[in-house]
Amino acid sequence: MHNAGIAALGLNWRYLAFDVPPDHLRAAIEGARTLKFIGLNLTVPHKLLALEMMDELDASAQRWGAVNTIRFEARDAQGQWRPLGRFAGKVPDTVRAKGFNTDADALSQALREDIDWQLLPGTGVLLLGAGGAGRVAALKLASEGAGILFLVNRTIAKAEAMAAEIRKRFPQQQVTVGYPKNKVDMVINATSLGLQPEDDLPFDPKQFSLQQTRCVYDLIYRPAETALLKAARAAGCRAANGLGMLLHQGAKALEIWSDKPAPLGVLRRALEKEVYGK
Ligand code: NAP
Repeated sequence: MHNAGIAALGLNWRYLAFDVPPDHLRAAIEGARTLKFIGLNLTVPHKLLALEMMDELDASAQRWGAVNTIRFEARDAQGQWRPLGRFAGKVPDTVRAKGFNTDADALSQALREDIDWQLLPGTGVLLLGAGGAGRVAALKLASEGAGILFLVNRTIAKAEAMAAEIRKRFPQQQVTVGYPKNKVDMVINATSLGLQPEDDLPFDPKQFSLQQTRCVYDLIYRPAETALLKAARAAGCRAANGLGMLLHQGAKALEIWSDKPAPLGVLRRALEKEVYGK
């Protein structure tokens, strides 16, 4: 996705993947800074660890408490910090790392685009999963006022900790740990259940039925249709997988590095080809 976008923007950059164990994360970021990389994306389990390793945090990283995008910056001739991608000639040696988060906004954009989700007063959302992605989803929904938020997670203590964080940061948000008894507006799967073909549904069918909702969003994008999405469509729900979220978090990162609008169509086509081979 990124290399296609980089080519479309006419940039002489390359996007590469590196496998970095968590205890080498600081060294990896320092190495990238020394080598004057344009930036980095981080994924599990680095997003929380990196918070402490930034020289500067964008409001997005502060708000969502996680870094998935780093931009390296140096001072220009006027003394202003500028992205390294904007330097035409020699880059000064003093480089700072600025952390951003593009996941949260990507999720709400994907919900609007892919399942036309609009908050209806008095309804609620059932959020399955309280890992890194579940936490960002919960905080983002709370920030937008998601009616009642029902949090369900295999490890209940993690859902309870998430509920406590929401009550503290968004006191107006109603939040409860456990399944809703009545209808909800949307179900979001932020667990990893569905990645494997043999996986069960990510909720307990004795405690919740898809008849209780109108929309289902599964953060999983490979396979394209999880058992949850299949069941949701069979139940007449609007349903979408997580490709849109992946697309938008990447597009925003490319914009952060390049200061140019991301070529969304190019990124989407490259992503679909890479993920689904079509
Ligand atoms: P994570 O931090 O490892 O969290 C995993 C979550 O899945 C936890 O809530 C965990 O529950 C739950 N879980 C794992 N195995 C389970 C099982 N056998 N039964 C019930 N629950 C189980 O991972 P993450 O980063 O939050 O990612 C979660 C999912 O979102 C993954 O499928 C990932 O691919 C997807 N994702 C998609 C995007 C996108 O752009 N579309 C972005 C980020 C993540 P416990 O707390 O009990 O362990």
